[in-house]
Amino acid sequence: MISSLSKVNQLAQRFETASPQDILSWASETYGETLAIVTSFQITGIAALHMLQHIATKTPVLTLDTGFLFPETIELMNELEARFDLRLERIKPRQSPRQQARDYGDRLWERNPDRCCHIRKTIPLRDALTGYGAWIAGLRRDQAPSRANTPVVSRDSRTGLVKIAPFANWTEDMVWSYIRAHDLPHNPLHDIGYPSIGCWTCTKAVAPATGKRAGRWSNRAKSECGIHIEVVDEGFKVAQHA
Ligand code: SF4
Repeated sequence: MISSLSKVNQLAQRFETASPQDILSWASETYGETLAIVTSFQITGIAALHMLQHIATKTPVLTLDTGFLFPETIELMNELEARFDLRLERIKPRQSPRQQARDYGDRLWERNPDRCCHIRKTIPLRDALTGYGAWIAGLRRDQAPSRANTPVVSRDSRTGLVKIAPFANWTEDMVWSYIRAHDLPHNPLHDIGYPSIGCWTCTKAVAPATGKRAGRWSNRAKSECGIHIEVVDEGFKVAQHA
């Protein structure tokens, strides 16, 4: 186990040029049963799941089922769960979409998406990671300016866990090459203009080469849900959900 921030920083340096496979192997050896991968089944997550099939097949796979996923995402999730025999945990928010509408009003994602993401993503993931020692994320530095400095190994301030981004240095082209080389499935929405895929309520198709995170919360300043980059909703009464 890794206890100090300086040790985490040393590991970030050590793995800066390492392959994702080497990083995943180290993570598995170091954390064993207390290692989880969190994925929304986009291309980097699929590459990571494939690599884990050769490294640590029974790594728990956590995914956020917000209640607003595209049918295509659910279908892909089901396909990969069966193909890789995943230990998949679909994490649901404490409130159903109907209960959220009752308590916060209809279409909260339009009026206050930070609060909606907090309720449906940040809190459920924080709760689900309780008891783990480290988690793997499919973050890449080329995805957005907000991710440009993503360390390979870091301390996650919200969960207190070690967070591992084995693909931080990979580009989108490298991931697509891996997907094609291994004949892996991908979300068909990528083929019709969705570079990044989240909830159907907040994701749109965009023109080619618009941006890797374009189409997420379009027409808003928001570009992150809050599970990777801190998003503060000052008015949220955490006590109601703690
Ligand atoms: S992406 Fe949209 S619908 Fe999904 S949790 Fe965030 S604000 Fe809510």
